Amino acid sequence: MTAIKKKKAVKTDSFSLEIEAKSANESFARMAVAAFVARLDPTVSELADIKTALSEAVTNAIVHGYRNSRGVGRIRIKGAVYEGGKVVLEVKDKGCGMADVELCLRPLYTGAPEEERSGMGFTVMESFCDSLRVRSAPGKGTTVVLTKRLGGGAE
Ligand code: ATP
Ligand code: MG
Repeated sequence: MTAIKKKKAVKTDSFSLEIEAKSANESFARMAVAAFVARLDPTVSELADIKTALSEAVTNAIVHGYRNSRGVGRIRIKGAVYEGGKVVLEVKDKGCGMADVELCLRPLYTGAPEEERSGMGFTVMESFCDSLRVRSAPGKGTTVVLTKRLGGGAE
């Protein structure tokens, strides 16, 4: 029997950015990520998808993760691109975390109904990207990993 090993994609570039958890910094993060990804020559719609998904993740870290932190808190955004056009973005906060990640991922679920949120942020991230991974622990924080393949390219 011959084992066919899947070749690991080669990382061609990466960045790491830390911002204070303030709404004013959301557009800064979105534009920085857009500028990083733009060099890969994405389509207008691919770039829009990435910006929207990133924006939902960063907004969640600010409004939910650090909701009880009185404006104190930092968000780490990491990005990497791989040969073949795969983009991986990680948004990490050290905020309140989630007790039930599965519940939070459900369409229309919101932990903040009084704020008239629609509970669609994760659903948007999921539908605009190729994959969404969420790691979270109460009191420790949350990490959201978004993956998108540009040009419909394979890994
Ligand atoms: P919308 O994004 O439509 O404005 P929403 O933020 O409530 O509404 P989602 O983005 O889908 O909806 O998030 C669902 C729920 O998951 C949130 O209401 C919140 O309870 C929880 N959540 C999401 N991100 C975080 C985070 N970084 N830290 C803690 N809880 C989070
Ligand atoms: Mg949200």
